[in-house]
Amino acid sequence: MSMNGDFSHFTELRRRIHSRPELGFQEHETAALVVAELRRLGLEPETGVGGTGVVATIRRGSGKGSIGLRADMDALPMRERNTFAHRSQFDDRCHACGHDGHVAMLLAAAQALSRSVAFDGTAHLIFQPAEEGLGGARAMIDDGLFERFPCDAIFSMHNMPRLPAGSFAMRSGPFFAASDSFRIVVRGRGGHAAMPHLAVDPIVAAAHIVTAAQSLISRNTDPLQAAVFTFGEFHGGTAGNVIPDHVELRGTARFLDAVLQETLATRFQQLVRDTAAALGATAETEYLRGFPVLVNAGAQTQLALRAAEAVAGADQVQRNAAPLMGSEDFAVLLQQVPGCCILIGNGGGADACMVHSPHYDFNDEIIPAGAAWWVRLVETALPGAGNC
Ligand SMILES: [Zn+2]
Ligand SMILES: [Zn+2]
Repeated sequence: MSMNGDFSHFTELRRRIHSRPELGFQEHETAALVVAELRRLGLEPETGVGGTGVVATIRRGSGKGSIGLRADMDALPMRERNTFAHRSQFDDRCHACGHDGHVAMLLAAAQALSRSVAFDGTAHLIFQPAEEGLGGARAMIDDGLFERFPCDAIFSMHNMPRLPAGSFAMRSGPFFAASDSFRIVVRGRGGHAAMPHLAVDPIVAAAHIVTAAQSLISRNTDPLQAAVFTFGEFHGGTAGNVIPDHVELRGTARFLDAVLQETLATRFQQLVRDTAAALGATAETEYLRGFPVLVNAGAQTQLALRAAEAVAGADQVQRNAAPLMGSEDFAVLLQQVPGCCILIGNGGGADACMVHSPHYDFNDEIIPAGAAWWVRLVETALPGAGNC
């Protein structure tokens, strides 16, 4: 493995992608840039996989044994507040989650892997569209990702601000939460605010629903398990002296366990319906399943760990990191093929901007460590004759 040398090319690429962010399934320029880079390395990438996805394959020796290396490519629909030269050229989108860096790290790894003879097997480099809630992983699967590019295991890496730059964190088992969303319309009967006995007040019913939902965590969840129900929107009424006829609520729910998710999702909908009924109102709930729980497989987490320790040293690797209540589309790929998603520290200390902040930027200094992890992972998972 040789990861020494000049990463300025990949820094420049990363900044170019950062300045030209594209939303999910619209990553045309980004995909074209990825394809050009892969062709420059002598690879023959397949394009249009699941929309704008790109996959390139590198084979060595017998070609037996295969792993998928996945990076996401999309940006977020929000305005960047940075002022540096490579800031987004558009007002309505930016790379606030560092997927520009994920692409750059996998391209840097592609360069090293295209020259490496230290592995024996097949590595599929998967550049996925639309991670941010639009279902890019599902689109790739539906487009035959694992039939066309069979993988025994699949891996992914996400940057994490506040973790020391170039350090790694992972865990076996649930690592990112399942994410569901809901919309509730509570209907009563509008009327005069001074004559509530002649109306059915949906504001009071909705307030009871929000309060009652807190018992899902405190009374229906094992105290040693984690779940979240957050109402992020509460809309109702037009005037202080009018009881409106309906209220609309929206929110999100997060779980680290699929059984608990099932139980609470059902319980939530009963509780909403029956709380409204108790107050003479009605409530309709639209409850949508989002990403499933991301579960890292034990054997693949061990491989990821060994590669991380080889790159950064054992003292720079958290092997039993706390799970995160955020969600990750990679969970959908992990439902098909065992694997592991790890975190790489983006640095910046305790007050660094988190991902999805308008001031966030990917740290180019971690490109070498990220690329080295990918390369070492391939050499660890698919050991060659000279690499025992
Ligand atoms: Zn994100
Ligand atoms: Zn992300």
